Amino acid sequence: MRHVAVLGSTGSIGTNCLQVLDSLPDRLSLVGITAHSRWRDLAEQSQTRHPRWAVVTDQSLAQDVERNSFSPKTEILFGEAGIERIASAPEVDVVVSAIVGAAGLRGTWVALEHGKTVAIANKETLVVAGPLVMDLAKRTNAALLPVDSEHSAIFQALQVGRANEVRRVVLTSSGGPFRGRTLSQLKEVTQKEALAHPTWNMGPKISIDSATMMNKALEVIEAKWLFGLRDDQISVVVHPQSVVHSFVEFVDGSVIAQLSPPDMRLPIQYALTYPDRCESVAKKLDWGRPFDWHFEPPDLDAFPALQLGFEVASRGGTCGAVLNAANEAAVERFLAGSLGFCDIPRACRAVLDQHDFDPTPSLDDLLRLDRWARQEVTRWT
Ligand code: NAD
Ligand code: MG
Repeated sequence: MRHVAVLGSTGSIGTNCLQVLDSLPDRLSLVGITAHSRWRDLAEQSQTRHPRWAVVTDQSLAQDVERNSFSPKTEILFGEAGIERIASAPEVDVVVSAIVGAAGLRGTWVALEHGKTVAIANKETLVVAGPLVMDLAKRTNAALLPVDSEHSAIFQALQVGRANEVRRVVLTSSGGPFRGRTLSQLKEVTQKEALAHPTWNMGPKISIDSATMMNKALEVIEAKWLFGLRDDQISVVVHPQSVVHSFVEFVDGSVIAQLSPPDMRLPIQYALTYPDRCESVAKKLDWGRPFDWHFEPPDLDAFPALQLGFEVASRGGTCGAVLNAANEAAVERFLAGSLGFCDIPRACRAVLDQHDFDPTPSLDDLLRLDRWARQEVTRWT
């Protein structure tokens, strides 16, 4: 039995994760859940599953939260201290890192410090502080298992050969809702259009990231740190059906892929049951019907965010933290209607170019630059 805490349990990954836990009661037991502000959703999760802890991270809600809405078996905690408490609890074996944005870093960090297995959906943590996070996991002997579908696919395909036999990995991308458009056709797109992802149903931030292809940029950086790859070992191909989740090409030219319908419950489950595989509630491919799978190179002119990802992966140092924070702030402003769609990558490029580059920053340096970059984006109109 693995005892699981789900950080960000009310989100898209979080709710998919709870479905996986519900489907495997003999293997997985839920001990902790967290939400930022949607405490009523959290209370409902507590009522139906009775975890030991529920954390509301938005401290200002402490007065509003009704104790009676939660299961009597659940202790309610508040703020980042609550996250730290469950991420470090001896009763927890696996921490699912499913908070969105750099806000997910703290819980992931504490879980790794305590040698927990971390199933990581929160790619921003690796973008901000990849080398420090990987180093911490190594020191505490903590396992860091990917949940992001592309990285889960690469993780699975890598098991076919040895690390020194890998030529490169090829991340697939759906291309998002604006695949095929030119840069000038992207100027007037609305929030609603950008949020309508063709193959995945996800939280708002990652949906916008998919529309700009910043999501793939973040994933290039994530792959670099997670798998210890050189820059020239990472490519991206657009595959609108989202069935092939990524490829690993070995030195002899063999290419191994992982395939499944777009359904996050599969990579989530694999991270939770690894190295075992078991029956899954995730959708299965239907081999009885004709189908076509299409692949094409990405359009870096229309989607300059992707180019930023390759550059930031190559430069490393403080670049990941600055790119991530600028993007989070720009996406927030786009969703609020105060920034245009094409200004998202533009603002990121400008903030990145202005920052004081340091090749070997500390965690404190990165957190300081995160605050600075967010502030810089407020100047964009
Ligand atoms: P979401 O917006 O649906 O959910 C986010 C969760 O984080 C919620 O539980 C929310 O309460 C919590 N949260 C938000 N702000 C917080 C804060 N400041 N402090 C603490 N908790 C906070 O997001 P999502 O789509 O589930 O994505 C979560 C993470 O997983 C992201 O890093 C995303 O890139 C990654 N991811 C998501 C998908 C997907 O299919 N949704 C796929 C791959 C990777
Ligand atoms: Mg992904």
